[in-house]
Amino acid sequence: MSAPVIELRGAGKTYPGPPVIRVLHPTTLALRQGERVAVVGPSGSGKSTLLAILGTLDEPSEGSVLVAGEEIAALGERARSALRAEHLGFVFQQFHLMPALTALDNVATGLLYSGVRARERRERAAAALDEVGLSGRLAHRPGELSGGEQQRVAIARALVRRPRVLFADEPTGALDQATGAEVVALLAGVADRGTTVVVVTHDERVAERFCRRIELCDGIAVEAGRPISRLTPDAGGPERVGS
Ligand code: ADP
Ligand code: MG
Repeated sequence: MSAPVIELRGAGKTYPGPPVIRVLHPTTLALRQGERVAVVGPSGSGKSTLLAILGTLDEPSEGSVLVAGEEIAALGERARSALRAEHLGFVFQQFHLMPALTALDNVATGLLYSGVRARERRERAAAALDEVGLSGRLAHRPGELSGGEQQRVAIARALVRRPRVLFADEPTGALDQATGAEVVALLAGVADRGTTVVVVTHDERVAERFCRRIELCDGIAVEAGRPISRLTPDAGGPERVGS
């Protein structure tokens, strides 16, 4: 089996109190090349927190995170950003496109600060848009695109650097069912071509298309019926009040 692309070793998250708020119990998890992972669970269960920690957008309050074998906490902010830019791509529920830019230029922004020249940025952006089925929409601005098309532009922007892992936090949350299904099929295709895809969703139809399923409930992650989080009561937490 290949080395993990991302690993959590007892990574958990609390917010300082009082009372301390525990949002993710220490969790151990490895993501490998080309895996499709669905993260499911009710609102407030810690899905976005888990995704942000896996994607190094947020720091765990305990435990460690390794990306491509490198321990993130050992790196400075610059090195961490470089590692993130090299290996990780992100897509969110709201597409976060620049309204004044064309689809092509929106995607090309994914290559800013990458050392790639402007002309090649545009060529690679056009290829990424082709990959998501939007070669006929290069000059359209977000306001001239449907929701599903805007999300596909956002996916192309995330893919243009050829990340090893693509994270999508509720990517179909703002779309109708049919359009959402198209976006999910697209993400599944991305995984088939070797990118690890981690998608947060509360749509069971989405989760069914992804092989691994991590279920969160009150900050405890369960996979295949087995907890991958270690339950940690925090002194001062709400459960201790008055005891
Ligand atoms: P989900 O994505 O599953 O809806 P989140 O990961 O966004 O859940 O949030 C998990 C929990 O963490 C929620 O109870 C939320 O209120 C809490 N939380 C998130 N951010 C903060 C913060 N900055 N301070 C305190 N609590 C937070
Ligand atoms: Mg969330």
